[in-house]
Amino acid sequence: MEKIIFATGNEGKLKEIREILGSADFEVISAKQAGIALDIVEDGKTFEENALIKAKAVAVCTDYIVMADDSGLEVDYLNKEPGVYSARYLGEDTSYDVKNQTILDRLKGVPKEKRTARFVCAIAAVLKDGSLLTSTETIEGYIGEKPAGTNGFGYDPIFYVDTYGCSTAELSEEQKNEISHRGKALRAMKQQMKARNVI
Ligand code: IMP
Repeated sequence: MEKIIFATGNEGKLKEIREILGSADFEVISAKQAGIALDIVEDGKTFEENALIKAKAVAVCTDYIVMADDSGLEVDYLNKEPGVYSARYLGEDTSYDVKNQTILDRLKGVPKEKRTARFVCAIAAVLKDGSLLTSTETIEGYIGEKPAGTNGFGYDPIFYVDTYGCSTAELSEEQKNEISHRGKALRAMKQQMKARNVI
């Protein structure tokens, strides 16, 4: 069966990717499942650059289509921090309880209209002929006054959306996938790949 290699070790992401890209014609596997173990330095300045760095690094090791993503949180009041450093904010090993509380502390007293933020997701694909595709999408929201919810991961408990009037950690997986940056970017990538008859 035809395979697409997605350069992530995150099982949660793979599940979402399979649900959105899913087809009987191909199987989505992780780089690790494809036997590719690389330590990739994500030193791009944008989400798109980082997604391309990861996809290209894995593509060198295989003839299959390779895809990769990079995502993060931009808080406008903090000059778009943590941005591409979202996973590394305050150190890779620092808990999200601490990362989230730090962001709340830095926004103390800041009114709602100035607490705007977004999750960004860039997806990159390297096709079999070496051509590159990218899609970048966002979900707009704001940083709440306190953490809420236990679903999701990372910055979800402090990221609120007006559509539902709650944090993305309070949404079900289906609700979040429908409006999320990653869901939107994956669906846009699927459209591009379909238009090229690669899936
Ligand atoms: P990546 O896995 O390298 O793309 O890093 C993603 C970083 O952004 C991690 O720190 C996540 O916590 C954060 N992030 C990205 N998407 C989301 C999301 O949907 N919810 C919460 N945090 C997210």
